[in-house]
Amino acid sequence: MSEKKFVYADHAATTAVTESVMKAMEPYFRDNWGNPSSLHTPGRKAAAAVRDAKKTIADTLNCRETEIYFTSGGTEAINWALKGNARANRHRGRHIVSTEIEHHAVLNSIAALKSERYEATLVKPCCGDGLICPDEFERAVRPDTIQMICMLANNEIGTIEPVKELARIAHRHKADFFCDAVQAMGNIPIDLDRLGVDMLSISGHKIGAPKGIGLLYIKTGCMVSRYIDGGAQERGQRAGTENVAYIVGLAQAIKDAASASKDKAGLKQKRDRLASELHKIPFSQINGTMEQRLAGNLNMSFEFCESESLLLLLDLAGICVSAGSACTAAKDEPSHVLKAIGLPEKTIRSSIRFSLGDENTDDDIEYIISQMHKITAQIRALSPEYGKLTS
Ligand code: PLP
Repeated sequence: MSEKKFVYADHAATTAVTESVMKAMEPYFRDNWGNPSSLHTPGRKAAAAVRDAKKTIADTLNCRETEIYFTSGGTEAINWALKGNARANRHRGRHIVSTEIEHHAVLNSIAALKSERYEATLVKPCCGDGLICPDEFERAVRPDTIQMICMLANNEIGTIEPVKELARIAHRHKADFFCDAVQAMGNIPIDLDRLGVDMLSISGHKIGAPKGIGLLYIKTGCMVSRYIDGGAQERGQRAGTENVAYIVGLAQAIKDAASASKDKAGLKQKRDRLASELHKIPFSQINGTMEQRLAGNLNMSFEFCESESLLLLLDLAGICVSAGSACTAAKDEPSHVLKAIGLPEKTIRSSIRFSLGDENTDDDIEYIISQMHKITAQIRALSPEYGKLTS
């Protein structure tokens, strides 16, 4: 297996636009390019496409069409939900509960709210497994808590958090619950009625739709203030001419992703083989629980190997992976998620994330395994620290 291949194992960062999404979008670039606010025939066709997309999404996620609002992606949906809900409820209190393992879109929205005199308590995962403990979450509640937040699946270590239970806790304390489902969509089934959350975010580019489209679900009755002033689009809450083709693409991607999320046994099997073979590399460890985890996610540390060196050599071998999340890859900060689960800096700085997708083959897995054995040995051969230990 020495021939160079191209293996994309970074699906948590982004995905390619699928054929079915391309096909669904194409007519809205070429033929039906009307403005949904126009009253003439092309405009009415575009408006119908937006309405149909909402219906498809609402039917797939089990909610009402009027509860779906299109955004430019996950980050915008999160900013809108957190800030809009906090501002709409400020007469009731100014305290927010969230977790240390959230995406920066959540953490930095909370930081922005702090400058508006909101306060926040961030809960740590109970232990090294990366799962949020419901009791700890509830202990953080104060009489003035108005909003509670936890992601459905973590982007770095793939942990699946007990959101249904956490949402119940929020409601017991008269707080609204926001869930970031950007990484969960397409990997685990999502039924909004059963999940019981008040607000939820989804991003298109993680599930085969283009970058620049996503949605925010706002349950009827949940108070969220208007995000963009302007025209009457999105029920007057997020103005701006709708991105019709991308909205149609998002609906197709959500439908496809929901159906793909029903069976992840094959993907899990491949991930488990990768995990057990890579674990044979000396001084390696798996980060986060292997129990409550997305089927395609594997986050591992390889001591004496800097993440950047691993990434670059893997890239030379045609293998794409990430160190931490794609959004913080440009900053030289150790991952806040791995820090929150108690890993020392040295271990964090030698960690990489494999995020496999349904199209990865058994051959891809074998290629990653053989290259990882080679590359870790190559890096360690240059490490004086490793040399001292093994001489
Ligand atoms: N939330 C999570 C868990 C993510 O992984 C990401 C993207 O990596 C986002 C939010 C942001 O989504 P977007 O890239 O659509 O802004």
